[in-house]
Amino acid sequence: MPASTLNHDGRYAPSPTGALHLGNLRTAVVAWLFARSQRSRFVLRIEDLDAARVMSGMAEQQLDDLEAIGLTWDDTPLVQSHRLDVYRSAINQLAAQGQTYRCFCSRADIQSAASAPHGPTPDGAYPGTCRDLDEDTTSMRLERGDSHCIRLAADGSHVTFTDRILGPVSACVDDIVLMRRDGVFAYNLAAVVDDAAQGVGEVVRGDDLAPGTPRQLWLAAALGIDCPHSYAHIPLVLGPDGRRLAKRHRDATLADWTAAGRTGADLRAWIARSLQLAAPGESPSLDTMLERFDPELIPHDPVVVD
Ligand code: GLU
Repeated sequence: MPASTLNHDGRYAPSPTGALHLGNLRTAVVAWLFARSQRSRFVLRIEDLDAARVMSGMAEQQLDDLEAIGLTWDDTPLVQSHRLDVYRSAINQLAAQGQTYRCFCSRADIQSAASAPHGPTPDGAYPGTCRDLDEDTTSMRLERGDSHCIRLAADGSHVTFTDRILGPVSACVDDIVLMRRDGVFAYNLAAVVDDAAQGVGEVVRGDDLAPGTPRQLWLAAALGIDCPHSYAHIPLVLGPDGRRLAKRHRDATLADWTAAGRTGADLRAWIARSLQLAAPGESPSLDTMLERFDPELIPHDPVVVD
């Protein structure tokens, strides 16, 4: 395909489980810069499937914070909790293709299998205990009401992709959970289905998610849906203690900045400097950052907040 027809539509997909911190906001800005620098669409998605972890009002708060630093997006954000039927039918499709199975193992079962002398998988992946359960045992356990999750019956494929920041990343696709025992659809499944539904061509997200991307590529192929053609996994922001930025750190969120008398523009200026898009003391607008943006300038190392 000629490069000009490639889809560079981008997205940002926060989970409303806590306030966006500097690292999240920085990744959102980078995702926006990637998309807008290619005159592409930029959409949002609220990843709120894990109801037990979602904080009330947080999705709205996150959108307000993105707006406060100047981000703009197309369309109404897609809300995952409104799309349960879509994820269910994706699992039904995989089941019809013979690519799922019910797993009754508890966490303790999995741990003891993993610590057995001939531990089945060296990398901690699920050992496949329930993969070949016969139908009678499965029906008996279902009738008994034993709780279970639904796993992918993976085929041991090794999938590699080339990340714009990290270079080649590869992993063996394992029997990941598609639907948890509490009925919650798994992130990997929902993300793949939604990236296709939202027409996303280029994924920009934190580099903690890079190891899972081969699974997502494999799932998209199994479902016969489009997958993004480009990935950029952005190094995380670390606190002064060298640990991944989190709520325990001071000055991590926009609310912290505002409480200290600073503004969204100040926070954006910090992000701009961290991306080498501003000189010390300068506070550029997003449009100015866009004019200066060059993916080659994105630091490949984690940024430490001072
Ligand atoms: N919801 C995920 C997070 O907040 C991001 C998922 C993604 O970008 O694919 O970490």
